[in-house]
Amino acid sequence: MVKQEKQREKKWLLVKFGGTSVGSAHAIQQACQIIQTQHDQWGGMIVVISAMSGVTNHLIECSRAAIHHDTDLYSKIINGLQEQHLNVVKDLLRTSNLDETELFIQHQFQTLQAFCDSVQVIGEITARGMDTICSLGERLNAQIFSAYLQAEGISSKAVDAANLIITDDNHQNARPLMAETCQKCKELLVPLLNDGIIPVVTGFIGSTRQGVITTLGRGGSDYSASIIADCLEVDEVWNCTDVDGVMTADPSIVEDARVIPELAYDEMSEMAYFGAKVLHPKTIQPIIEKDIPLRVINTFNPEQAGTRISSQSHALRGKLTAVTSIQNLSQFTVEGRGMLGVPGIAARTFGAVARQNASVLMISQSSSEQSICFVVPSDTEENVQRALLDEFEHEISQGDINGIQILNDVVIITVIGSGMRQTPGVSARIFNTLGRQQINVISIAQGSSEYSISLVVDKKDAKLAVQQLHQEVIINGY
Ligand code: ADP
Ligand code: ASP
Ligand code: MG
Repeated sequence: MVKQEKQREKKWLLVKFGGTSVGSAHAIQQACQIIQTQHDQWGGMIVVISAMSGVTNHLIECSRAAIHHDTDLYSKIINGLQEQHLNVVKDLLRTSNLDETELFIQHQFQTLQAFCDSVQVIGEITARGMDTICSLGERLNAQIFSAYLQAEGISSKAVDAANLIITDDNHQNARPLMAETCQKCKELLVPLLNDGIIPVVTGFIGSTRQGVITTLGRGGSDYSASIIADCLEVDEVWNCTDVDGVMTADPSIVEDARVIPELAYDEMSEMAYFGAKVLHPKTIQPIIEKDIPLRVINTFNPEQAGTRISSQSHALRGKLTAVTSIQNLSQFTVEGRGMLGVPGIAARTFGAVARQNASVLMISQSSSEQSICFVVPSDTEENVQRALLDEFEHEISQGDINGIQILNDVVIITVIGSGMRQTPGVSARIFNTLGRQQINVISIAQGSSEYSISLVVDKKDAKLAVQQLHQEVIINGY
């Protein structure tokens, strides 16, 4: 990968703070400390910010309560959120910019209350309406963080990403239109950077060409950060979160998970795709082309090196890297003797699934061609089932397809590492480990890149499976 020479002499750093990193007055002070320490080291800094942790979930709850005409519940949530934000600014700000920020917060919550009142009357909300509600947490926090930086003597300006990230209208999971987005980023952010002002940009949100607010999917602030990093060709991205870096397993499942010091882009992509929540699965893609290094560090422990992800990172070649898991999944099996040798069954199966906008996370087909098995998120289960029954109505009535079997509450566990390529016997070791624990493996798939082996297990076995695999193949491993 050839790194393009940039015209710019000064180096730019983009820092993204996740929900816990900006979830309280204390956390915002810690985050600001990182900005203060780095301020003089870089020619320009951009901040991308999430909502306070838990706020997006509360906003979703709020809209659900409105749909169910539960005025008391949504009003209670709105009051609670308003108080939470007002308390944070009271702890952080001095009178000069306290009043202005308080007024902004109060106005936003009045608007939310009015919005929920009308949803409550109609009893339904569109995906577009959900995006308007869900975007509030980021919009509040960008104002708060920017006001705090200013109070600390750092020039800064809150920037609403609805004016920067232009997307399609696939609400709740919108895709950026990169050419337009990059043009906006250059128009709006570069003058600020040149004037020594730190833009504090809302993560997670964008807008359509018509200016309607969209969101990029849950956890999408990481993705916002790398989209902006790509457009501005920044020199580095720091993703500041609540753990010491990308780890060999989710530390909330595996106590002795270890920080991985270096990762290649493709290994990180695989990890994020297969459930390492520390980065949104789409985060890596925009920064690969321009080879922008990404560091993952702990806001509350910034002196630790964390994880560095770049094209130069080969430290782990030859080893297994991590064990990840994805929960809340359903496995579908389309099965029947009549499928044997019939062309087009797979295409029709996945065509039907795609029309439901459901993403298929894993596929396995037996070589006899008598069954196709795939895994989708459980919240798409009902739609996928209906679509398949419609698609194969004729074959099912003829007995060529026996029916559609569904296993709910399954978990995909993935062992990841480029070392798998050169190392025979990895699968044997994985299956022996699970066999010893009497854990039943429901289905298996190996990534074509040979970077990963994924297996489906029942939810009840998932935690033990991750812990045992981590111990056997990562800690004791190769
Ligand atoms: P943020 O709000 O900063 O974006 P997230 O909660 O989205 O943070 O992601 C950080 C969390 O990801 C950690 O607290 C951890 O529980 C979880 N996680 C899952 N897998 C991993 C992993 N392999 N390495 C580090 N953290 C992980
Ligand atoms: N606040 C959003 C969410 O909770 C985006 C993010 O945190 O990255 O999904
Ligand atoms: Mg996150």
